[in-house]
Amino acid sequence: MMKTFFQNAWNNIRRIFGLHSNSKYVRDYLNEANVRSGVFMSAIIFVLEIWLLIRQTNKYIIPTMTDPSNTNSLFKVVFLNTSNFWLLLSFGVTMFFACLGYKKINGNKKKLISILIPAAISLAFCALMPFEFIYSKRPIVGVPLYLLISLYASIALFNIFVIIFSVYHYRGGKKNYIPTVVTISLFALVCLSFGMKVSYGDFSSVRTIDGQLVPNPDYKQIICFLMMAMYVGCLLIWKPYVSIAIIGSIFIGFYLLLEYTVSPRKFPEGDLVNYITFLISLTMICISIYVQRVNEAEKDEELEYLATKDPLTDLMSFEYFTSTVNKVIKEDTVKKNEWVFLFVDVVGFKVINDQKGYLKGNEFLIKIGELLREIFGGYISRQADDHYALFTENIDIENKVQILNEKIKEYEPIVRPDVKFGAYTFVKKEEPSREGVEKARYAYTEARNKSLGDISFYDEKMHDQYRLNQYVVRHIDEAIESNYLKPYYQPVVASKDKKLIGAEVLVRWIDPKYGMLSPVVFVPQLENARLIHKLDIAMLRNACKHLREEIDAGNKPLALSINFSRMDFITVDIVSMIEEVVNEYQIDKDLLHIEITESALMDDQDKLKYAIDRLHKFGYKVWLDDFGSGYSSFNVLKDFSFDVLKLDMAFLSSFGSNPKAKTIIGSVVEMAKTLGIGTLCEGVETKEQADFLSSIGVERLQGYLYGKPEPYEAYTSRQK
Ligand code: C2E
Ligand code: CA
Ligand code: CA
Repeated sequence: MMKTFFQNAWNNIRRIFGLHSNSKYVRDYLNEANVRSGVFMSAIIFVLEIWLLIRQTNKYIIPTMTDPSNTNSLFKVVFLNTSNFWLLLSFGVTMFFACLGYKKINGNKKKLISILIPAAISLAFCALMPFEFIYSKRPIVGVPLYLLISLYASIALFNIFVIIFSVYHYRGGKKNYIPTVVTISLFALVCLSFGMKVSYGDFSSVRTIDGQLVPNPDYKQIICFLMMAMYVGCLLIWKPYVSIAIIGSIFIGFYLLLEYTVSPRKFPEGDLVNYITFLISLTMICISIYVQRVNEAEKDEELEYLATKDPLTDLMSFEYFTSTVNKVIKEDTVKKNEWVFLFVDVVGFKVINDQKGYLKGNEFLIKIGELLREIFGGYISRQADDHYALFTENIDIENKVQILNEKIKEYEPIVRPDVKFGAYTFVKKEEPSREGVEKARYAYTEARNKSLGDISFYDEKMHDQYRLNQYVVRHIDEAIESNYLKPYYQPVVASKDKKLIGAEVLVRWIDPKYGMLSPVVFVPQLENARLIHKLDIAMLRNACKHLREEIDAGNKPLALSINFSRMDFITVDIVSMIEEVVNEYQIDKDLLHIEITESALMDDQDKLKYAIDRLHKFGYKVWLDDFGSGYSSFNVLKDFSFDVLKLDMAFLSSFGSNPKAKTIIGSVVEMAKTLGIGTLCEGVETKEQADFLSSIGVERLQGYLYGKPEPYEAYTSRQK
C-alpha cells in the first residue's frame, strides 16, 4: 500500500511538471490550442502596435517635423520613434496568417500567398537593423547590442522559418501546415526579446541633473517585460518544466542584466520581492493551465476514442469508417479503380463462439482485425459481430484473401473457419462509402454460397440484381399500400380422396415497373433488411379479408396456411401482431395455419419455443415447413410441438434410386403419426409420387398435380 502511495505521488509529480509522455492526441490538442492562442496573440499585437504607431506619430513625429529647428530627415525621425512598432506589427501580421492558415484558410495556394506576403514584408523590416546602430548613438545608457540583435535576429529567423515551411508544405502537400512547435517557440522568443528591449530602454533611461546622470522617474519600469513574460507563459502552453526553464532563466537573466549593466543602479529592494512573487505566481499559473489542458485533452481523447473506435478490435467504428472514407474520396487522394471496398465475414465464427466460449471468440475477432491490418492495410472497421468493412488499395486482392485464409486456419486448426470476401471496386466519386460497402456485401453473398474461392467481385449482373433488391426494400411499404403484393393460393388436397381441403398462401409481387416478381427474388432481401414481417402480416391480412368475405357471404371457407419467416420471430413480436389482425377480422383460429420454415430452428430456440407455445395457446396450428431439407433432426420432433410436418417432394426425390430412401421416409411419416403429428407433402407433380405418398400414409398433398398457386378468384371457383 505504501508502495502504491509513493508510486501515485511520484506519478502526480511527473504529471504536474510535464515529465510524463503525452499521447499523440494530447500533443496535437496542446499544439492546436497554441495555434489558436497564436491567432489571438498576434491580433493583440496588431491592435496594440497600430495604436502605438498613431500615438507616436501624434506625440513625437508630427511635433518634431513641424518644429523649424529640426534638422533630421523624416525617415530618421520616423525610424527613431517607431522602428520597434513597425517591426512588431509586421511580425504580428505574419504570425496571424501563419496560425490562421493552419486551420481556417482553405486551399493550399491561398494559404501560401497569405503567409508569404506578410512574411516577406516582415523580413524586409529586419533589414533595417543597421539603422539602429547608425541612429542610436547611446553609448552609455543605450540598449545593449545583444538585446537589439536578439530582437531583429529572432524576427528574421521566424520569418525565414515560416517561408521555408510554407513553401515546403505547398510543394509536398504535407498535412501539418507549419511545424507548430518551432513557430510558437520563435514567436515566444520574439515577444520576450521585445519585452526585454523595451523594458531595458525604459529602465535604463536617465536624465542629467546638475551635470549628474540620475534615473529618469518617468520611465522607471519594466512592465513591458513582465507583460511579455505573462503573454508567453499563460497564453502559450508549454510543458511545465519548459515554462519553468524559460520563465526562470529570463527572470534571473533580466534581473542580472539590469543589476550589473544599468548605472546608476536602481532596482529597489521592495520591487525585488514583488519581482520574485511575480515569477512564482506566473510559474504556478503556467502549471495550472497546463494540467487543466491535459486533463481536458485526455477526456476529449477518451470521448473521441469511444466515438471512433471499435473497443474490441481497436479498428475504426463503422460510423467513423464511413465518414472518414467519404472524406478521403472527396479529397481526391484516391483514384478510381485503384481502391476497393471489401466486406468480410467469417463463416464458422458461431462454431468457435459456441465451442470455445465468448472470450476465445473475442480473441479470434481481434486476431482477424490484426491480420486484416497486416495483410490489407488501408481503412478497416468492424461493422458488426464478425463482419468487417475495408477500403483498401486494389492490389493483389485475391492473393491476400488466400494468405489471410491460410493464416486463419493455422490459428484455428480445428474449426478451420472460412473468411469470405465481397469486393466492390471504387469507381464513383459521388457514391457514399456506405453504398460501396453495401455492394461489397452484396457480392459477398455470392462468395458465401460458392464452395470454390473465398471472394466475389461485384459485377454487372450483380448490379441489376442489386438494383432490384434495393428497389424491393425501398418500396415494400408502397407495394403493400398499392396492393402490388398479391396472395396466390395453391390447393392442398386430402390424400385419401384427393378432395380440396385448403390452400397455402404464396405471395406474388406484381410490380408496375418490373412485372411479376417471384418470392424467391424478394423474400430473402426483405429478410436481410428485417422488413419481412410487413409482407407476412400483409399476406395474413389479405387472407383474413378473403375469409371474412366468404363467411359474410354465408359460405364455409377452407383453411389457409400462411408463411412466416424465421426473421419475424427475431425482429418483432409476431405472435401479438398475428392475434391483432385475426381478431380484427374475427376469424376462427381453425381456419389459419402458421407455417414456419425449418431454418428458424437455427436461431434462438427458446424464443421460438415460447412463440409456438403462445400460438398454441391462442388456438393456432403451427406447421413446420421444409422438414428434412436442412438442419432438422428427430430432436426437433421431441423439442418442438409442431402440428404438421411439411415435406418437400423435391427434397425426397433427391434420395433418387437409393432403396433405403423409401424406408426412411416411410418411418418418418409413421413416427409422426405415432406422435400425433400430421403430415403434408408438397411439390407433388406426378401420379406415381402421389400414389407412393398415399401408400406410406402421408395425409395431405400439395403440388402442380393438383394446382399451381393461382389468384383468389381461380381458387374460389374450385370450391363451387
Ligand atoms: P415454400 O413455402 O416452400 O413454398 C413452396 C414453393 O414451391 C412455392 O414457390 C410453390 O409455388 C412451389 N411449388 C408448389 N408446388 C410445386 C410443384 O409441384 N413443383 C415445383 N417445382 N414447385 C412447386 P414460390 O411460390 O415461388 O415460393 C417460394 C418460397 O418463397 C416459399 O417456399 C416461401 O419460402 C417463400 N414465400 C412465398 N410466399 C411467402 C410469404 O408470404 N411469406 C414468406 N415469409 N415467405 C414466402
Ligand atoms: Ca410454405
Ligand atoms: Ca416448403
